[in-house]
Amino acid sequence: MAGDFRLQTASGRWIWIHARGSVVEADAQGRPRRLVGTFTDITESVTATQLRRALLDHSAAAIAMLDARLDILEANSRAEEIFAPPATSIAGLNLVALPLHEDQARFIPQHYATLRASGQLNMELPLRDNRHRMRWFDAHAVMLDPEDPDSDTVWTLVDISDKHRTRMALATERLRLKTVLERFPGGVLMEDQDGVITSVNRGLCELLDIPVSPDELIGLTHEALCQRLGTERTAWLHRPDSDRTAEKRATVEVEGARGHTLEIDWLPIEHDGRRLGRVWLVRDVTERKTRERRLAELAATDPLTGLPNRRSFLAYLDAALEEGQREPTRRNALLMIDIDHFKRVNDTHGHPVGDEVLQHAARLIRGSLRQHDRAGRLGGEEFAVLLDDVGLDTALALAERLRHTVAAKPAATVAGAVSLTISLGLCAVSGRNPARVLADADAALYRAKRSGRDQVCVAGSTVE
Ligand code: GH3
Ligand code: MG
Ligand code: MG
Repeated sequence: MAGDFRLQTASGRWIWIHARGSVVEADAQGRPRRLVGTFTDITESVTATQLRRALLDHSAAAIAMLDARLDILEANSRAEEIFAPPATSIAGLNLVALPLHEDQARFIPQHYATLRASGQLNMELPLRDNRHRMRWFDAHAVMLDPEDPDSDTVWTLVDISDKHRTRMALATERLRLKTVLERFPGGVLMEDQDGVITSVNRGLCELLDIPVSPDELIGLTHEALCQRLGTERTAWLHRPDSDRTAEKRATVEVEGARGHTLEIDWLPIEHDGRRLGRVWLVRDVTERKTRERRLAELAATDPLTGLPNRRSFLAYLDAALEEGQREPTRRNALLMIDIDHFKRVNDTHGHPVGDEVLQHAARLIRGSLRQHDRAGRLGGEEFAVLLDDVGLDTALALAERLRHTVAAKPAATVAGAVSLTISLGLCAVSGRNPARVLADADAALYRAKRSGRDQVCVAGSTVE
């Protein structure tokens, strides 16, 4: 018989005693006559066991000792808490009896082979817990006796599910970002706060004409990218003078390769007032630009004759006046033209034929222009020409020539040839006031009408 108990010594210290006793002599009835007993002070070994237990149970890691048959010899409280079914213990169970091996069962022999070969094993391991939830562990296993292939093993498992989840979420986010970038209808270049490229898509390489795959640019510094781009394209990538600037956006429009127009936006990436990086978005706006130009042209053009309309002609007049202010020696002239008795054309042949006559007149006017002259349809059957860099004498000669041309060339219409004449008012383009210049030319034109039509009058040459 044997037993362990605690005992207080004379000095007041508590010790653990292991007591063993045996009968060395019995009487005829078998009753003990002489006993031999030993008392051993086992305080040290009890303390060591308790310490080991306390250390194990206070560990945040799940720790278990398994024998070669995968029987669990010992498990700490964290291991029980994670893996033991309610109100039971995993100590004494075989590893295979636990649901944790579900996905890992086929790897167990492989893990043990590695463990036996190198004496230890470190890996990230997915296991199911007692609630059948998948958890990720940082697993560390050692053979207690590396020389013995059938040695017990100690497994230490640190739950890294949160870390793993975060890592997976990050990886998923990256994948999503990559997918979005690949499908983004334009170029994207992203750099971290140190100017190192973190994201770039195929669109960027195409639009900036960099003949490499986007992955080759990741990890490069901004300077290294600029070296590849050369001076002109480097200037397209706006960079503020300092990262502390309050600048939140900058947009440039540049002429890219193959006649394409690119719009490049620069944006800082900020969080809580801290700059985390910057991004450039590159868009091909060629189509939009062409459309805008086309719309602007349409808005500025008279649809019947194709000549600039009144509004855009007046803009030319404004520009000519400004030019006159800058260069006082330069002389320009304005010619106002009105078809004589045009109403009769409509009345006689109908409006569509009137339109044909207007188009014919516009063609003749356009044909009379020198390289820098501008013509416009001011409205109805009224036209104007801005004669560039001429004195009134030359302008008068040009006006007379046009008048003769119109009179000599009838319009070929669906109703046959329609003859026409025009009256013209001429004035110098001077001063600052376009309305004044127009009024002068108009007055001269009115005088031409009053004087019998089919003639040119010069403003100021007679009292109006
Ligand atoms: P005047 O010699 O005094 O200039 O006489 P006019 O008949 O040319 O002048 P008036 O201002 O009396 O008539 C101009 C006509 O031009 C009236 C209008 O119906 C016509 N007209 C204006 N715009 C158009 C157009 O776009 N197409 C056609 N077919 N006729 C137009
Ligand atoms: Mg008229
Ligand atoms: Mg008129």
